[in-house]
Amino acid sequence: MKLKLATVSLAGCFGCHMSFLDIDERILELVEHVEFDRSPLTDIKRVGECDIGLVEGGLCNAENVEVLRAFRTHCKTAVGACAINGGLPAQRNRLPLRPLLEAVYPQGVPDDPELPLLLNHVHPIHEVVHVDYSLPGCPPSADAFWQFLTDLMSGRTPQLGHGLIHYD
Ligand code: SF4
Repeated sequence: MKLKLATVSLAGCFGCHMSFLDIDERILELVEHVEFDRSPLTDIKRVGECDIGLVEGGLCNAENVEVLRAFRTHCKTAVGACAINGGLPAQRNRLPLRPLLEAVYPQGVPDDPELPLLLNHVHPIHEVVHVDYSLPGCPPSADAFWQFLTDLMSGRTPQLGHGLIHYD
C-alpha cells in the first residue's frame, strides 16, 4: 500500500519545495511508493489522512496556524525545515510590527478583512504542534529529502548521515 504524503508551505520562500523537486528522476521511484495529497505540487487545498507531512516555513499569520493545526491533525509525521526556528522570515522579530508595516507600505498598510491577521512575531512550528522529525538546512538538500523519505518508506527511523546535515 502506498504511503500518503502531504506538503505545505507556510511562512517560507518555496526554496524547500524547490530543493525537494531536485530529487529529479527519483520522483518517478517516489510515486511508486507514495501518493501525494495536499501539496503545491498537486494543488489539492485540503489535507486528507496522511502518513507523512512535510512542512516548509514557520508561522507568521493566523492562517499559517490554522493550516498547520489541520495538517498536524491529519499527518502522523510532521517535518520542519525553516519551520525549525522561523528561518529568514523571523528576522523581523527584532522589530516592532507596526513601524515595520508602515515603512514597507508608506501609502497605507493593507487592511482588507480577507488578509490573514499577522502575528507580532514569526514562530517555529514546534511552538504550536508536535514535530516528529526535523530536516535542517536552508534548504535541506535533495539528497537529504531522499534519504529521509526512503528511510520512512522502508519503515526505518530516518538517519541522515554525514554530509546530509547542514544548517546554512
Ligand atoms: S528553510 Fe530556507 S529555503 Fe526553506 S523555506 Fe525557509 S528560507 Fe526558504
